[in-house]
Amino acid sequence: MDKNWSKIAIITDDFVREIYNDWAMSLFGSFSKNIEILSVPPGEQSKCRFQVETLQDQLCEKRFDRDALIVGLGGGVVCDLAGFIAATFLRGVDLILVPTTLLAMVDASIGGKCGVNTPQGKNVIGTVYFPKQIIFDKIFLKTLPPEELNSGMMEMIKAALICDNELFRAMLRREPWEKFIERAMEIKKEIVTRDPQEKGERRSLNFGHTVAHAIEKLSNYQVAHGRAVGFGLLVEGALSFLRGFLSHEEYGSIKELLTQYKVNTKWGYLPEEIFEAMKGDKKSKGERVRMVLLERIGKVADFGGEYCNEVTQEEVAQALELVGAL
Ligand code: ADP
Ligand code: ZN
Repeated sequence: MDKNWSKIAIITDDFVREIYNDWAMSLFGSFSKNIEILSVPPGEQSKCRFQVETLQDQLCEKRFDRDALIVGLGGGVVCDLAGFIAATFLRGVDLILVPTTLLAMVDASIGGKCGVNTPQGKNVIGTVYFPKQIIFDKIFLKTLPPEELNSGMMEMIKAALICDNELFRAMLRREPWEKFIERAMEIKKEIVTRDPQEKGERRSLNFGHTVAHAIEKLSNYQVAHGRAVGFGLLVEGALSFLRGFLSHEEYGSIKELLTQYKVNTKWGYLPEEIFEAMKGDKKSKGERVRMVLLERIGKVADFGGEYCNEVTQEEVAQALELVGAL
């Protein structure tokens, strides 16, 4: 870090602040004497326009200027909020992200996407803004609850499924999960570098998420993202098998790995409810639902550069039946 910032705002949540306040002050204290810690309540509810406004007002009141630095210290919620604030405050100031959850390390902090939710859905308002630096340290994972680790693990399994059969096999062999983090981060970085604006290939990162987002929406966002993604990976893997892409053995190994992580298949929603909720997906075209499918483990079917393909309600119902969801 080569710059002297006029002021630094560390955006975090109350919980992370309690654990890592001193760590943050001692690291960033060497870059500026003017440091403010601005913290929001923990949880997805804070990823909203009210918190954006509150944080922006605080920056204005405390007279932050163009030479300010915004730091996002926390999980996906905080990284998104900090990114959005940095992108919009005075039309953009420096941003550093310090992801403290596994999910934020392997997913949310990479790729520049930052958004907030509205009553219409997740990430409805947002932009793409890249941090100057991401500070990555596995030490944060020591205090992370198991449920949060599970969420990140699902994104790592997704990375393996879309990009790296070897990584997937290592996961199946139950090698220690800490070993997979760097590779999962690299996979996401490579994809977003090739397609930052999500014109094609970046959609492959959405594997498992068409179904996952439907489950999250139907549950009124009460289901943890990782839990929904685990189920989504299984169903979308099943659909890839039903399409004749994945072999029976490949589908079986996906099921085996996800079963190790206790994937839930019983959500109690009807296929038509799930299909209806999927129509709100950003890949949909009108009533037509599109989904990312695997050609084999480690490779997404590219469908002429679209990286997704229309699926019917009947196919979705068959996949749900195959995974034992009905
Ligand atoms: P994500 O979207 O990455 O799952 P959130 O920002 O919603 O993350 O954070 C999930 C929860 O984990 C929040 O309650 C947050 O306070 C907490 N948290 C974040 N990082 C840590 C950490 N390193 N140790 C313990 N709890 C953490
Ligand atoms: Zn995800």
